[in-house]
Order: sequence, then structure tokens, then C-alpha cells
Amino acid sequence: MQLAILFFVMCFSSLGFSWAQNNTFMTPFEKKSNTSASYAEVVQFYEQLNESFKTIQLTEAGSSDSGFPIHTVIFSKDEDFDRESIRKKGKVVLFINNAIHPGEPCGVDATMMLLRDFATKKDQLDYLDNVVIVAIPFYNIGGGLNRGSFSRANQQGPEAYGFRGNAQNLDLNRDFIKCDSRNAQTFNRVFTYWQPDVFIDNHTSNGADYQYTMTLIATQHNKLAPSLAGYLNRSLLPALYDDMEKGGWEMVPYVYARDIPDNGIAAFLDLPRYSSGYAALFNTLSFMPETHMLKPFEDRVKSTYAFMEVMVKHLHHGYRNLQQARKDAIAEMKMAKAIDLNWELDADDFDTIKFKGYEASYKPSKVSGIDRLYYDRDKPFEKEISYFNSYKPSLTVNKPVAYIFPQAYQDVVERLQWNGVVVKRLERDSDVPVEMYKIVDFKTRDHYEGHYLHSNVDVEKLAQNWLYRKGDYLVLLNQFSDNYIVNALEPHAPDSFFAWNFFDGILMQKEYFSPYVFEDLADAFLKSNPDVKVDLEDKKAVDPEFAKSAYQQLNFIYKRSPWYEKTYRLYPVGRVMSDKDLPEIMDE
Ligand SMILES: [Zn+2]
Repeated sequence: MQLAILFFVMCFSSLGFSWAQNNTFMTPFEKKSNTSASYAEVVQFYEQLNESFKTIQLTEAGSSDSGFPIHTVIFSKDEDFDRESIRKKGKVVLFINNAIHPGEPCGVDATMMLLRDFATKKDQLDYLDNVVIVAIPFYNIGGGLNRGSFSRANQQGPEAYGFRGNAQNLDLNRDFIKCDSRNAQTFNRVFTYWQPDVFIDNHTSNGADYQYTMTLIATQHNKLAPSLAGYLNRSLLPALYDDMEKGGWEMVPYVYARDIPDNGIAAFLDLPRYSSGYAALFNTLSFMPETHMLKPFEDRVKSTYAFMEVMVKHLHHGYRNLQQARKDAIAEMKMAKAIDLNWELDADDFDTIKFKGYEASYKPSKVSGIDRLYYDRDKPFEKEISYFNSYKPSLTVNKPVAYIFPQAYQDVVERLQWNGVVVKRLERDSDVPVEMYKIVDFKTRDHYEGHYLHSNVDVEKLAQNWLYRKGDYLVLLNQFSDNYIVNALEPHAPDSFFAWNFFDGILMQKEYFSPYVFEDLADAFLKSNPDVKVDLEDKKAVDPEFAKSAYQQLNFIYKRSPWYEKTYRLYPVGRVMSDKDLPEIMDE
């Protein structure tokens, strides 16, 4: 109760100004607290703000799968909406995304109130001297239009909300690299255009029950350049946790537990397919506030508002330190000789944190009779639990000077360009010394977000010359997006374009041999290649199955012969390792 009163004073007391002037600046949530604004209401609300306040600009930023445009709302105290000019003035950019999961809409309503309050409350406006806010008010429009009251079975309100899948039934929070949706294509372009310093993607959690309304996923710090990780861990995160507690919304790291939280929680590894992992590739500090599904919608919206407000205040005070850390991080990433592509949890490295939970217990299920888990809200506790927040790199590659690949891969080049990557084209056919990968092994997952995602990709490196054609693509490193480029183009990275099936053509052999015809060729080949004959005999000696199979022996020879296709499982993206090997490129 006390918390609610405190929040009322904090957020609503001076809203009388706008309400008195024009009741239309009230959000549906403020009119009825278990209500979340529909997509149409959101657009209408921002259209009104856009017309009424020079500090707010509503723009159609690009298309979505639903057919409706994705908007951005920019809040700039100077009434300056030009990116270059904003950068020149030394302001930081806070980028906010809402309704990627429209069933988790707290951010939609909280952002409407936040931007309205910044426009109408003079004391709030001071916090935006050095901060420009760019918000996507409603990202998954298709999901938002698919509105109902049942798709979040375990969630407390709001009365009506959208669905997780977008118009193509994709989870947009897996789509940041593969970009199957037009939503993600728009997002990639808008995000890399603004190159924000901080990113917030608003969500609501699933999982265990505990006392907190707000939990937080911050970018996994081990994935960041040291300067940025230092700023996050030593300055920004402690300030966010402190200020949220002071405002009555004590937070805890996102409760990611193997079983009940008492046994410890782990930091979430936000791979680039997820919003925060994607943003981290561009040295943007990212946060996913995850309000707790079992808390009233009203509290979830208010705590989301509080989190964004606290963030703005901290950026107002600390923007110079953040800018320096980010500038250093971009330089560190450009200079880095090697890039980490995957990580594993360090089970030996953990902190002890305070946790306010509810006692978990088991009782017979009324449905199955089998023991079921429940959290007893009459038995709250506060205890110390282990927090595993350290990941060790499990895959690191050295950075090439450039990547080079055939123009056949148009889908790849499009995605690079949506992300602001500078792509050059070859002036003429060129025989280029490159490192290439043979795909030795991989696992494939069934039906995952419109793909058959590859993982555990094992590669063998080949140093060879390869003929690339006039017009093929060359991507020089030493760009602001180096980390994105390497993560997307190294085939063994967990969210590479290879993993997402953009190169699956190479995974199937196209030509074979007829054994009865190949017999004579194989015989002649063995006579002129005695080393292959030795290998064949060695294998026959140790492998009885092989020794009994005429076909296996012919295939063994075929694979070592000139008739075997060189391109089978050869990943066509070459790594140019030295400046002197760079082919000539076309003039712009
Ligand atoms: Zn979510």
C-alpha cells in the first residue's frame, strides 16, 4: 500500500497540468488500471502528442509483417531530431522497445505515460538535457492485433492483450539476426541508424514465484568490451538497483533457475538472436526489465515506468562516463585481434545475493495425484542465494582483414546492409588467398522459428586460393559493426547466418558415381596415386566392415579423387587474412 502511495506521488501528482488542459493525454491504463492500450490507441495517443508538443516527433520508421507501419517516437528536449546534430551535441541516445511480446505490454503503457510526462512536466524535462529517447511504441503489431484474454494462461491481467507470435507467427525475440520478419528488418535499420548508447526492451517474465515485481536481465557482461562491462558492473547496475529500491520497486536479477530459486539463479546468456544480445554486438548496453507475471498489471506498469525513469535520471548524471566507456569499447572491439563467439556458464564463479522469495513445497496434485510444486505466499523468506553471473568464452576466432563471398548470397548481403555494414564489390574476377572452412559436423534442430537451426558446428580450416567473381562482395573489418559481422559470418557462431540456414545449399552433395563405371577409373587412379592406395589398405586392415564393402572402398577413393566436388560442405565465405591479399574493389 505504502509503495502504491509513493508511486502515486512520484508519477501522477503533477499530471494535473496535462489532464486539466486536455483529458485526451490520459492513457487507457490511467482511465482503467487493468487495461493496456491497443495498437490503434497507441498510435492515436502519440499522434496527439506529436501535434501538441514540439519535443516529440512521431515517425513511420518502416514496415511490419502486419501491413501497418512500425513507428518511432523521438523525444528531444531541443526539438532537434537530426541524428548527426544530436550526436554532435554530445547527447546519449536511449532506445526503448515495447510489445515485442504483446502479451507482455507493460512497456507500451509505461512509455506512453513517461513520454507524456516528460513533455508536460517541467521538473522532469531537466533530465533530458543530455538524453534523447527513441522509442518503438508497439513493435509486434501483428501480435498486437491478435488480441484476447487467454494466451498468457499464468499472467495476472491486463484484461486484453496481444499474442506473442507476429503476423507470420514468429517470435520476434528470436529474429534479430535471421530477420525473417519485416519487423526485424525495420528494427535492424532503425537501431543501427541511431546506434543507441542504451537499449531497453520491456517484458514480463514466466517462471518461479517470489516477492519482487521487477526483475532485470542486463547484457551478459562477459560479452562486452572491458570498458563497457566495467561501466555496467561498477556504475550503472548498482545505481539502477539502488534507485529502484529507493523508489519502492526493489529489483532482483532475472530469476533464471534450474529448479526453485533457493538453489541459485544464473545470468541469462543473451545470444544475438535476442534483442539484448543483438544490441550488445553494437556496444550498446542493453536491459530487459521482466516484470513478474503474478503481480497486478497496475504494479507491473508502474515499476516499468519507474525503471525507465531511473534509467533516464542516471543517464542524465552519468552520460559523460557512459560515452567515454562506449567510445573506448568501440575502439577496443575494432582493435581486438580475436572475437568471442560462444560462452559457457562458469559454475565455479558465483556471487551471493539477497533474495526475497516464497517457500517452495510439494503437495499432491488435484489433477494427477502426483506431487506438484507450489509457492506458499504465507511463508515469505529473505535469504542469501547463489547468483552465477560469469560466462567463460568457449569459442574464439581471430579476426580476418576482410570477409569475401559470392554475390549469390543476396539475403546475406541485404542483412549486412540493414545493419549499416559497408559492403564493397570486386572490380574483376580475382584468385584470392583465403582461409575457408569445411563444415565437418553439425547438429540440426527441428522446427525452430521458421528454420532448422544448426548448432555444435565443427569446422576445419583450409588455406587456399579461391576464385571470386567480378561483383562478389567484400566486407572489410574495422567497422563499428565488427562484432556483428564476425558473429554473423563465422559459421560456428551460435547465431551465424550459417546456423540459420542461409548456406544450406552446401550441405548436400550434388553429384555421385555409378560404381560399375567408377571401378575402372578408381583402379587407374590408385595406380597413379600410391599414397591413396596405402591409405585404402590401412583402412581395410583396421575396419572389417569397410574391408567387406566394395561401395565404401570406391567412395573412399572417390572422395580423394579430382571427381569429388570441392564445394560440398565448403563454406563459401572466405577470410582474407592479410592486406596484401585484398582484391581490387569497384569505385563507389
Ligand atoms: Zn517476453
